[in-house]
Amino acid sequence: MSEAIENCTHNCNTCGANCASRTSEQTSFLENLSPESSVKKVIGVVSGKGGVGKSLVTSLTACRLRAHGHRVGILDADITGPSIPNAFGIHETVGVTPDGRLLVPATTATGIELISSNMILEHETDPVIWRGPVIAGAVKQFWSETYWKDIDYMLVDMPPGTGDVPLTVFQSLPVDGVIIVTSPQELVSMIVEKAVNMAKKMNIPIIGLIENMSWLECPDCGKKIPVFGVSRIKETAEEYGIPVLAQIPVRSEITQAVDGGTVEYVEADFMDPVVEAVEKF
Ligand code: ADP
Ligand code: MG
Repeated sequence: MSEAIENCTHNCNTCGANCASRTSEQTSFLENLSPESSVKKVIGVVSGKGGVGKSLVTSLTACRLRAHGHRVGILDADITGPSIPNAFGIHETVGVTPDGRLLVPATTATGIELISSNMILEHETDPVIWRGPVIAGAVKQFWSETYWKDIDYMLVDMPPGTGDVPLTVFQSLPVDGVIIVTSPQELVSMIVEKAVNMAKKMNIPIIGLIENMSWLECPDCGKKIPVFGVSRIKETAEEYGIPVLAQIPVRSEITQAVDGGTVEYVEADFMDPVVEAVEKF
C-alpha cells in the first residue's frame, strides 16, 4: 500500500496523490473552519425568491434554539440584502481577534453570535455593489476566517434564488440540511420546486417547508384572512414528501420587532415544531 493511500483522509482537495479512488465527484470546494472554531450543525435557510421572510425565519429559529439552551450562530450569507443585524438591533462593526487573524462576530442580547456584510461596511446604508465572486468570497471568509466558538447550530441566511451565488455558498459551506421558506403566492409559481430541486441536486437533505404570511389575523374577531391567497402548502409538501414545519401569520408586531431590532422578544410559539425538527435532525 502506498504511503498516500495509507494516510488517506478522503479529502482529495488536500491530497496530491493520483490514486484510483480520486474521482471528479469527490472534488470538494468546501472551506475549512479556523482551527480554534467549532460548529456542530449547519442549517441553511433558503427561498426561491426574496421578500418571503427568509431572514425572519432565520432569526426566529435562532432565537428559539437559543432559548432551548443551544449555542447559536447566524451567518448572514445574503450579502447584498443583509437584514439580520438590524432585526437584532446590532449596529456595531465586526471585531477582530487580538492577533488580527480572525473576524469576531457580534453577540446579540440573548447571546446569539452573528456576522453580516452590514457589519463590514463603513456606513450601514452603503449598498453592496460587488460582483458574484467577491460576494462568494465574503461568505467563505465569514465561515473560515471568523472565530466561531463552540457553536451547536449555525443558521445560514442564504442568498435568495437558485443562481450562481447561492450555488457557491452551498458548495463552500458544509450545509447539513435546509429549511425552505415560501409564501402562499410563491407556491403557485413553481419557485418552491426550484428550491427543492436545487437542494436535491446538491444532495442536501430538506428539513422541511415553512410557509410565511399564511394569513392575517383579524385583531377584532381573530378570523384568519388569506391575504396572499389560499395556501396550497400541504399539497405541495405531499407532492415532494417534505414535512410542513410551520405556517406563520402576518402580524404587525413581527414587522415592528424586525424594524425595531427586537426580534428576540417576538412571541413565536408557532416556531416550536421547527426547533423540534432541527433538534431531531
Ligand atoms: P427575505 O429575507 O425573504 O427577503 P424578510 O424576512 O426580510 O424577507 O421579510 C421581508 C419583510 O416582511 C420584513 O420587513 C419583515 O419584517 C416582514 N415580514 C416577514 N414576515 C412577516 C410576518 N409574518 N408578519 C409581518 N411582517 C413580516
Ligand atoms: Mg433577507
